[in-house]
Amino acid sequence: MRKKIEFLKGSCIIKCLPFVHILKEEFRELYCDFCFNRPTKVFRCSGCKYIYYCDRSCQGQAWKTHKDECPCLKQVQPCEVSDTVRLLGRILFKFKRNGEMEDSCISNTRSRRFKDLMSHYKDLKNNPDRMIHFVATYKMLKKFIGTDMSLPNESDLLGIYGRVSVNSFNIVDIEYRTLGVGLYLAASIFDHSCTPNAVPVFNGISLKIIALEDIECIDKVFISYIDVMNLTAERRKQLKYKYFFDCMCEKCTDPNSDKVMSSLKCSTPNCDAPIFADFATNTIQPCDKCGYQYESKVLQSYHEAAEYTTVNLDNMKDVNYLDACRLCLIKQGGLFHSLNILRSKILDAAFESCIDLSLWDDAPIYGEELVISFREYYGQNHPLLGMLLAKLGKIKFNEGKDVEAAVFLKEALEILSLTHKEHKDFFSQVKELSYHASMLKRHAQ
Ligand SMILES: [Zn+2]
Ligand SMILES: [Zn+2]
Ligand SMILES: [Zn+2]
Ligand SMILES: [Zn+2]
Repeated sequence: MRKKIEFLKGSCIIKCLPFVHILKEEFRELYCDFCFNRPTKVFRCSGCKYIYYCDRSCQGQAWKTHKDECPCLKQVQPCEVSDTVRLLGRILFKFKRNGEMEDSCISNTRSRRFKDLMSHYKDLKNNPDRMIHFVATYKMLKKFIGTDMSLPNESDLLGIYGRVSVNSFNIVDIEYRTLGVGLYLAASIFDHSCTPNAVPVFNGISLKIIALEDIECIDKVFISYIDVMNLTAERRKQLKYKYFFDCMCEKCTDPNSDKVMSSLKCSTPNCDAPIFADFATNTIQPCDKCGYQYESKVLQSYHEAAEYTTVNLDNMKDVNYLDACRLCLIKQGGLFHSLNILRSKILDAAFESCIDLSLWDDAPIYGEELVISFREYYGQNHPLLGMLLAKLGKIKFNEGKDVEAAVFLKEALEILSLTHKEHKDFFSQVKELSYHASMLKRHAQ
């Protein structure tokens, strides 16, 4: 008998609005604090003179949340209030108005309240780093909220702080830039996997969890809490630090997954097979496909280039520098396979900076190779792959390369139709370009 499938590929598993959310400070004067849209002009709240909205309608809808916060923001200025403090403040104000009783629906028969989230109280208590952050946050929260409202005691607040920091989602825009943070009660039931079968998709502040493949039932849905394009030790470190668990997913327990992520490129012309090195014993395996055998001394050059790349990637956390990317790629020479994540990360940075600099001839050189690793690590149906293909298609189309553009855009459209159909402006633009490119391609043939 065939298994019953509850969620078909592309279907929405859960749709929810945030219990609380916060716009990052750096976007405060550009985006609406309520809906995260970016209007041509934002309007400032006349009470606190701190928060900005699209218009009266957004301000009206936000008032329930902003009413208590407004006088606090006014009295605390010119002191800076961190995003975490404002988020916690919003939760406390919400509790004052019975927010603890608010249900968020998972299905017809299941729902969740704030208290159902795990507090990780003990994990936090045992982590000195995170306790330092908590104590500073608590101190600032007292200053922010003032004496009008009684704050919970330190241990109760730690429970709230734990629930928020472990369960929050970064709210991203269509370019995958983090605009803010939100707590989504229903969506926080999903566990993590480094090979997820579902993905969070934001439209403004509304969150949907969308199936990337057919999934049997809700208990078998997995999303990823981190960027999966990292080595196992790094992924597990991030998960342990932020979410307090040791990931035992398929990928974390597969000894070969790291080998691909740090593979060498075969030296035989036109052989595209990745070559695996065993860094512990300083040996290199022969090529699986053509038998080519590197001498183990090339590992010295590999390590040098890898270190150089790592340092540069660290320096480029906020801004990408094309010159630095190019130097890394030169250092890597012909030694790094396209699936090597140190190469992929540099290609990604180089591609994005070419776009920023409008270098349309150069951008595809990096972007086209990047497709290989996005497909491997994020998976065939992931929107990040769809976005990359859409960008490549658009660049090729504008450069008059219709045949190539049509191929990229067709695939982009297939992927994005699973996750981004509701992003109407964006989606119809890709659809239209794809149509034009395929028409021009037909003429050219
Ligand atoms: Zn205000
Ligand atoms: Zn708005
Ligand atoms: Zn894992
Ligand atoms: Zn080979």
